Amino acid sequence: MALLEVRGLCAGYGAVPALDDVSFHVERGEIVALLGGNGAGKTTVARSVSGLHRASSGTVLFDGRDITRCGPQRIVQSGLSHVSDGRRVFPSLTVEENLDLGAYLDGRRKNVVAERREGVYRTFPRLAERRTQHAGSLSGGEQQMLVIGRGLMSEPSLLVLDEPSAGLAPTSIAALGESIAAIRAGGTAVVLIEQHLQVALQLADRLVVLQEGHVILGGRTAEVAADPRIGQMYFGDR
Ligand code: ATP
Repeated sequence: MALLEVRGLCAGYGAVPALDDVSFHVERGEIVALLGGNGAGKTTVARSVSGLHRASSGTVLFDGRDITRCGPQRIVQSGLSHVSDGRRVFPSLTVEENLDLGAYLDGRRKNVVAERREGVYRTFPRLAERRTQHAGSLSGGEQQMLVIGRGLMSEPSLLVLDEPSAGLAPTSIAALGESIAAIRAGGTAVVLIEQHLQVALQLADRLVVLQEGHVILGGRTAEVAADPRIGQMYFGDR
């Protein structure tokens, strides 16, 4: 049984359709990258899966359970954590305080929160160095580590990352890629929305390619990457 199974998902904004019959799956512990141009529907897929956007039809199964109509809080509690784009930290709170907010659903037990925080620091040693600093003083790359770290504080079995590398310098993107690989090595599956094709090709086990709300390609990374439509999408005609 797949960890995440999306079947025939349709969603839109008012009368404007954004997704039409989107299906894909994610196995335990694997990285699946969602690719596609601007407006292809990647963010809408991520938000629909996480309960932040209501699908008009279709089914989302997580760990064998139908979560299509569940709210975001229930979905986080069932082990699916969503890190939205835009890198929203609480700038006047410290790194540590920002992280702890990611565990608020388990906030009753301080020792559990502290243990999870140490786990995040092992994945992102830079955050440990900056633990007492205000989040607003961090670099863009560090803020991205912080929002991902906050997403890990609920100990998800699936992490959905919406464009984590957007706007980062190449060295920060490389560091981020290593961290995402480390997260997967720790057993957490990842759905990665990624504009940088090279990053997706390096990290993902499988690719799902969206165009105008449809899945046009899907499969093992090497197979999909060899499809000429990928080249056209990212590099123009070749
Ligand atoms: P990008 O890379 O630009 O974020 P995307 O692949 O994530 O694109 P979505 O943001 O999911 O695509 O958008 C899919 C479609 O839904 C687009 O046609 C977009 O214009 C439309 N859309 C997205 N958000 C809204 C909204 N809040 N209201 C109306 N239409 C929206």
